[in-house]
Amino acid sequence: MYTSRIYGASPPWAQSWLLSGRAWIRGMLREGRGLRDELQDLARTERLDAGQLQALQLARLRERLVQAGREVPFYRALFARLGFDPRDFNSLDQLACLPILEKAQVQAAGAALCSDARIGPRFRSTSSGTTGSHLQGWRDLRSIVRENAFIWRQLQWAGVRPGDRRAWLRGDKIVPAAQQQGEFWRLNRADRLLMLSSYHLTPARVGAYVEALERFDPVAIQAYPSALVFIAAVLDAHGRRFGQGSASPRRLRAIVTSSETLLPAQRQLLERVFGCRVFDWYGAFERVAAIGTCEEGNYHLLSDYGYAEWQGAEGGQDLIGTGFDNRAMPLLRYRLNDRVLMEPGGVGCPCGRAFPRVRAVLGRGQDVLYGVDGHRVFMPANVFDDLPGLVAGQWRQHRPGHAELLLQFQQGRGMAEADVEAVARRYTGEAIDLEIRRVDRIERTAAGKLPAVVHEFAAA
Ligand SMILES: [Zn+2]
Repeated sequence: MYTSRIYGASPPWAQSWLLSGRAWIRGMLREGRGLRDELQDLARTERLDAGQLQALQLARLRERLVQAGREVPFYRALFARLGFDPRDFNSLDQLACLPILEKAQVQAAGAALCSDARIGPRFRSTSSGTTGSHLQGWRDLRSIVRENAFIWRQLQWAGVRPGDRRAWLRGDKIVPAAQQQGEFWRLNRADRLLMLSSYHLTPARVGAYVEALERFDPVAIQAYPSALVFIAAVLDAHGRRFGQGSASPRRLRAIVTSSETLLPAQRQLLERVFGCRVFDWYGAFERVAAIGTCEEGNYHLLSDYGYAEWQGAEGGQDLIGTGFDNRAMPLLRYRLNDRVLMEPGGVGCPCGRAFPRVRAVLGRGQDVLYGVDGHRVFMPANVFDDLPGLVAGQWRQHRPGHAELLLQFQQGRGMAEADVEAVARRYTGEAIDLEIRRVDRIERTAAGKLPAVVHEFAAA
């Protein structure tokens, strides 16, 4: 909608009304009674003990397997070939009979992974990411409502209630790219949501963004980490805090981040500058696993969202997930491109939930640098953690064995190139030639994200 001619040609006040109207229609479809029912279900399942959760997982997995075997051509053929009858599925470890599904197989299978039964309306979605790595996903209405309910449960863990004022700083193109002055935000009245454009953020405009946020006085801010960190870093450089100097106390209670890896130093900066806690949500476009942050500040892998497996790897585990809710395009044992560091089993949480704990979401598996000899450096984004005063950073690789390190520091901050190189070498070793560049800003992707690593060649 944001790129439609009518929207683009409308004045900002009319864009706000168009946004609100669309949100109201979406709300009718996706919220209301259906959402309330799902939220009730999730309020029940988050209180189950470990044994009850296993029983729940078994029942939901069986239901998904039976449906996939009946309605999805890809799985009909696979189950026939393996002699696998999902009606006999009665223990979680039986799932290991099925092969792990890789992203390339999903891209190749296309419509063969979609249900061919009449299941009502389907909604298509395309993943963001670098060219050539896009995925196309189909979802049914109930799975969308359910996803929404999971997000709302996360907001509730953060102390946010339906109807609370929220601000939103993500990848939505709510402000036309050509607009260079005026307000870079629009008000969605239906959701009491102030939507701010992350594409128009520049150091010079940060003051106006903060003023708009302070005037709106949200209870929560939902944001891409990189976009909100950008604002926080500018405030911090000027010794400012959000809401400082206002007569009445601010309502802001929580920041909820998602869609990018949140680094520990970024979390600290956000908490310091905004004076509230940060709750990080990990979701996957493929809808096979999700991780939330509880009131105690701990990450939990949500056992009522899907069945997750993890495979050990040096310094972290690959997540493999089977989602419970998407009938339009069920993915079984799908390998996500993301790595986590699981807490050892048996570590409980004071919040009382039996969902497994995750020590850290390490980030994207594609966050890798390639050496000439096939050598790989994982998680080079960790470097950014060790560079004080850094606002944003990105690795760019045009060919194996060579990498550019783009660094944007706070005003008046920075490090000598030799020192940066010494830090970077701790992660990359000598396998990669480094070129360090200090920049004023780093371009975002079409979806408004700031990936830690960009490959400008076909990576293996
Ligand atoms: Zn907890």
